[in-house]
Amino acid sequence: MLRALFLNACVLITLTYLLSLTYQRSPVSGEGGSLQRLVAFNVMGTVLLFFPAQLAPGVVLDLRAVPVLLVTLEYGLLPGLGIAASILSVRYLQGGAGVLPAALALLSVTVLAGAARRWVSLRMEDLVGRLFYWAFLLLLPYPLTLLLLPNGEAVFMRLGGPLVLFNAVGLLVCASILVGRFQALRALQHLTRQAEVDALTGLANRRRFNADLAQMDEQDALLLIDIDHFKRVNDTFGHAVGDEVLEEVARCLAEKVRTRDTVYRYGGEEFALILRRVESVRLVEVAERLRAAVEEHPLSMLGGGRVTVSIGVACYTREPALLERADAALYAAKRAGRNRVCVHPDVLHAFKSESGESSNSASGSLSPGVLEDRG
Ligand code: GH3
Ligand code: MG
Ligand code: MG
Repeated sequence: MLRALFLNACVLITLTYLLSLTYQRSPVSGEGGSLQRLVAFNVMGTVLLFFPAQLAPGVVLDLRAVPVLLVTLEYGLLPGLGIAASILSVRYLQGGAGVLPAALALLSVTVLAGAARRWVSLRMEDLVGRLFYWAFLLLLPYPLTLLLLPNGEAVFMRLGGPLVLFNAVGLLVCASILVGRFQALRALQHLTRQAEVDALTGLANRRRFNADLAQMDEQDALLLIDIDHFKRVNDTFGHAVGDEVLEEVARCLAEKVRTRDTVYRYGGEEFALILRRVESVRLVEVAERLRAAVEEHPLSMLGGGRVTVSIGVACYTREPALLERADAALYAAKRAGRNRVCVHPDVLHAFKSESGESSNSASGSLSPGVLEDRG
């Protein structure tokens, strides 16, 4: 019998491990694929039925309760009951004296786990604390239905304790496999986020910018935003105050953009903004709004003083070198006297092809910016 139980445990652990690999995000909510995963837990419980230890004719012992408890703790009572019912229907087809006690046992621990869900969940803190005790508590009613069997009292006295212990250890081992996976995913997500965030401003950093730049598409646009005469700020107020100014300008820019757009700290005192699905005719207006917002923003660390920014605008076209085009526009804005917006001529061409208008009328719409055709 021990060999059969060992085989059953090995099947459970292997399947739980394989299933854990399907989780790609933690917390699981919003990841999608829950239905497929519930089916997988269901299959796991059903497979366990086919590798049982035989206690008596028609009475078998296996770890089917473990996937049901895992589902109930992670997804709730109803999914847990659904899987329990599905596993029990297969057990019913197998037949034997143990069918009714098996059904009552599984349903009772499922309901108990559903009720306990608010106190215990599949998290590392619970695993080393509460779940350890709850694993035994939840399974306490499990062997009671052995009393319904012919000669049930003797079976209960002999196997009640080992049954709870076997299932509780199985539950803890499988929970730790899943929780370990969740924790690794959370750590990975945290590190990925950290690797893409600028430590000073909290904006997306150059690494993220490079990745997003490569993903840009039709109707997207790029703004390069550079603080004017920032060296003077450092020279006058010191580097620490300069840092605070960078933080404040970053906040000011980030507040002004839509959620689908992203502001990046491109480098030093230079920021980038990727605008998604924006009409080229609106680009100067957006850039001008950002420029004015910074200009009008009093900076407490400068005693109410202000800084200004120059902005270069380019939009995605089939031509390569979008970054270079935005940089050329920024350079033009600096040369034209700073504190202004300059659009690359490609924006004008994009506007013409969007509206079908002639070059002259288009240039009228884009006039707030300095427009310099650099060839
Ligand atoms: P321009 O109008 O031509 O852009 O003039 P500028 O002084 O802003 O330009 P420049 O590129 O010559 O100088 C940028 C300065 O920004 C130099 C550097 O010391 C400062 N800087 C870059 N990164 C940081 C930072 O993280 N913190 C602080 N405080 N200063 C920085
Ligand atoms: Mg500058
Ligand atoms: Mg600069």
